[in-house]
Amino acid sequence: MHELGIANSVLEAVKTEMGRHPGTYPCKVGVRIGEMAAIDPESLRFCFEVIIQDTDLESLELGIEVCPRRHRCRVCGNDFIVRDYDSRCPQCASLETTCISGDELELAYLEVEEYGPSTVGAKSSQ
Ligand SMILES: [Zn+2]
Repeated sequence: MHELGIANSVLEAVKTEMGRHPGTYPCKVGVRIGEMAAIDPESLRFCFEVIIQDTDLESLELGIEVCPRRHRCRVCGNDFIVRDYDSRCPQCASLETTCISGDELELAYLEVEEYGPSTVGAKSSQ
């Protein structure tokens, strides 16, 4: 299953990121998926939940953001969202447009919580 591999790489990316920030715990990871990347967000969520089950990342939440396909017009420089495969520039009607996004698959954000410092001798004696 395509989505299982992706879920695994997301998890790997989270672990790598956590290695750089000791003392924190990830609570939510966000991924950005372009609509052309042919990934089913629901299957991805399902796979992710399966692989984190019974691990120390079990409570990690997955946020999925689906990005529409965007083109940029080579004539007037307008950026626009492509709907119904119509890649014509809505501003100047030029057909000379190039795809600038819509097939991304990337980590968008990672929300972490710091392990509370275990209140060591922080009492002030005033
Ligand atoms: Zn244009």
